[in-house]
This record gives sequence, structure tokens and C-alpha cells, in this order.
Amino acid sequence: MSRRIGRRIGSFGPQAGRFAETARWARDLCVCVRLPLFICTLVRVIGARLPIVVVAVSVLISGAALASSLVTESAPTASHARAPQALGVEPSWASGTSSSGRLERFSLEHAMSHVRRLAGRIGTRVRAHSGERKAARYVAARFRSMGYRTDVNSFPVDDDRSRNVVAKWPASARYGIVLGAHMDTVPGSPGANDNASGVAVLLEIARLIAAREPSRWVKLVAFGSEEYGADGRHHVGSREFVERLGARGRRRLAGMVSIDMIADGRPLLTGTSGIGPPVAARNLFRIISAKTNIGLRYITFCDCSDHGPFERAGIPATFLYSGEEPDYHSSSDLPQNLIPGDLRRTGRAMRAFVADVDQRLVQRWRSRG
Ligand SMILES: [Zn+2]
Repeated sequence: MSRRIGRRIGSFGPQAGRFAETARWARDLCVCVRLPLFICTLVRVIGARLPIVVVAVSVLISGAALASSLVTESAPTASHARAPQALGVEPSWASGTSSSGRLERFSLEHAMSHVRRLAGRIGTRVRAHSGERKAARYVAARFRSMGYRTDVNSFPVDDDRSRNVVAKWPASARYGIVLGAHMDTVPGSPGANDNASGVAVLLEIARLIAAREPSRWVKLVAFGSEEYGADGRHHVGSREFVERLGARGRRRLAGMVSIDMIADGRPLLTGTSGIGPPVAARNLFRIISAKTNIGLRYITFCDCSDHGPFERAGIPATFLYSGEEPDYHSSSDLPQNLIPGDLRRTGRAMRAFVADVDQRLVQRWRSRG
């Protein structure tokens, strides 16, 4: 190639000497940087302007080299961007990779530690009394330690104040699905099954989904004042929650699952009170039945837990419940009288359900059918 160029340059006219010199320089440059033939031909034609062309080509080559080096140097920066994920802080869905992956196993040990704390160390948690206040503090601290944004919303009841603990993952959907369990007890009962068991499942599920895709679509709520009070009202905390949603929130909220009394040795039940849209109950029943062998049963039951106010507001709501038991509302509702295997059973059921919670499921519940 270089030989052919030299022969053609040798046939130039009166300025052949000057052109020959610049042409040799150009040829050497072409050989050196392996420029295509057409560029060298162009150099020969423009003759004295060769230096300008050389400068332009040099600038282009330098620019390309610089860009290449910048691309190479940017690689470590990309790994820095992944650092928060490696620390378990950045949710998988936030990066757009959107795989919930497989959730960790439900830990009975963790759940029982919550039951012992609530029904053992704290004990009776009557609404608007110090036990309920301590329970709210404990639950809020657990949610916060997992990375949830947590609010304690107080409301008036029995001439005092009770509270709901509301936890959401940062940047999660505003109106998704509420997973709820009540913290309070009737007077004289430590409420291990009613309902430290439900709160324990709620906290353990919160741990399993923290920073995972399902946390984008759920709100975790520990309700105060579910039990009847001196004024004859019940479900005050959940009613308060529903009222605070406002008209738009009640329209937009996809649904609610109440976990209440789930570890007493009887079959696990789900369903509705026969008031609100059944889509949540039916969907939850189908998912848990398809993915587990726990023998979940479907019933229509009384308006007697926190799903009631949601159903009455037209929001799809359902429950997990294992029926009445000998220790119901009594001083013997103690951690040692709870059936740990049933606590794990409900944990497995909820884990199976939340693993399927995504935008599609939320839209389906939101459309009420
Ligand atoms: Zn109760």
C-alpha cells in the first residue's frame, strides 16, 4: 500500500519538491497510524494544507483515545454505584432489575421472640393504656430497625389516646395493600394468641420483604383499639385508619389483610364478613392453597376484626384467623399456651402470599374484581 502512494506522488508538477517532502511525511504518517488510502489521497490533493489535515486527524485520534480511556476509567465508578445494594440498602426493584427472588424462610424463633416480648414482658395491652403504648413503641422500633419509614398515628378513645403504627418502605406505592394486626388486648389478658401472634407474623413478614419487590406494594399496620372499649366501640384503630385515607384513598387502596388469632391449634381460615368485595379473600385463598399444603379454609364470618371497617368502606379486605379457643380473652392466653407450629403455619401462608404481591395483583384488587 505505501509503495503505491509513493509512486503517484512522484509524478507531481512545478511544486513537486515541496509536495514530495510533505507527501513523504504524509505517507509516513499514514503508514504509522494505518490510515485508509482515501485519506492519504486527499492529503496529496490538498498539498500545502497538509499540516491542517494532520492536526485535524491527530485531534480525532486523540479524541477517540481519550474517550476510550474515559470509558475504561468509568468501570470502577459503576461498581461504586452498586455498593448500597451490596450492603442490602438499595431495594432490588429500585435498580429496575425488578426480581423479588426467593424470600427467606419464615423464622419461628423471631416470631416467638415478638410474642414473648408483647404477651410476656409487656403483658396486658389495653387500649389507650401504658401496655398498648409500650407495644406500639416496640413495634415501631422493630419496623424502623428494618429500614421502614414508620409513623405512630394517635387518635382519641376512652378519654385518652390510642395509636396505630404505620410502616412503609421508602418510595413504596401510596395506596397498595395493607397488612394489619392489632396490638391491644382486653383487660386481664396478656393476649399471646389474641393478638401478639398476628403482630409477630406481621413483623416477621416485614423482615422477609424489606427492600424486596413486595415491600413496594404493601403498608404494614399494627392497629390499636381493636377490642371493645368502655364506650362499646370496637375496631377503632382500623376505622380511624380508613377515615384518614379520605375519599380518594378509599377508592385507590387496593385491599387489606387482617392477621388476628392464628395460633390456637385449629384450621386456618380466610374469607370476608360478606360486606365488601370478595376479590382479596378469593385471591389470597387461591394463592395460599396453590403454594402450600396447610389446608386453608374459606368462610364468611362475622365483622369481628380489623378487616371490618375496610369492607364497610367498599375496600376488598380479608383475614387469617384460626377460630375461638379456650384461652380466648382470658388470663391464660399466655405465650406457653400458644401453638408454635400454627404460628409457623400462618407465617408460611403469608410468606407465600406476599411473594406474589406485585403491580398486577394490586391493580386487580384495586379494580375490585
Ligand atoms: Zn380479641
